[in-house]
Amino acid sequence: MRTLILFLLLLAGIYFVRRVFVRTSDRLRKRQSRPAGGERMVACAHCGVHVPESEALIVDGIGYCSPEHQRLHRDGHA
Ligand SMILES: [Zn+2]
Repeated sequence: MRTLILFLLLLAGIYFVRRVFVRTSDRLRKRQSRPAGGERMVACAHCGVHVPESEALIVDGIGYCSPEHQRLHRDGHA
């Protein structure tokens, strides 16, 4: 009986460690997909909000937070 309890505890331990390990490696993978040393921020030309370069919309060297603001900014200057 004691052996069975030890076996179940071992299984639970393996399950727990694996879950933590999978979650940690997943987080590391996400962090590695971004450039080292922090991402460059781009200011939206329409509202001034700073967004990461990878999420910003850059048209003709001007950054925008969203396609909507790119359109509004372009229309405002037309
Ligand atoms: Zn904006």
